[in-house]
Amino acid sequence: MVPVEKLLTELSKKRFEAVSAYPSVARRLLHAVKRSIEAESVEEVNEVGLNCREVLNDYAKQIYSHEFSNEEMKKGNTKQLLKETINYYTSSGEDRAVVSSLNDLVDKVTRGLHSITHSSTVYPEHAFLSIDLCFSLISAIEGLILSSERKGNPTYEHFGVIKCPSCKSLKLETFSHLDERRDEIYYIIECKECGWGEWTQ
Ligand SMILES: [Zn+2]
Repeated sequence: MVPVEKLLTELSKKRFEAVSAYPSVARRLLHAVKRSIEAESVEEVNEVGLNCREVLNDYAKQIYSHEFSNEEMKKGNTKQLLKETINYYTSSGEDRAVVSSLNDLVDKVTRGLHSITHSSTVYPEHAFLSIDLCFSLISAIEGLILSSERKGNPTYEHFGVIKCPSCKSLKLETFSHLDERRDEIYYIIECKECGWGEWTQ
């Protein structure tokens, strides 16, 4: 492969790392990328916009926990789910500048995708723009908020999670168990909310 192509492949792989923790988001995004390359007609471009909105909604539902807000949240309200998540992880107050710029980005991206989905004056370039908007927002949230949440978090280090993968609760308990017969230590994680659990050595 010529160096430029190799570089571009590496770049794409790096960008894709942001979503690799969310298999269904990654699958949807790959599908949208494929459709964006093929999109020519207005309807096809609209559809890529819609696909990207579904990607963001899936992502938002996965990072949101009902413990982030006292309000009843609609599962389809991507913007609100993302903003509540951003606010929760930055509630210490140190990151106010980050919060407002991320919230602006949420507005900009959801508005942009909404208009690409519904506009009758879109061009194939808008299909690529949809993908770019998706990547920008997800990598900003992952990079600025979630990566710092994972750092040094024992449940993440042992189990790769910061909240329950089943019910999204934050009420996770970890404990260890020494099997004296085999002389092995087991680490166990349990969700106090739904009973999900996993163990590792
Ligand atoms: Zn749970």
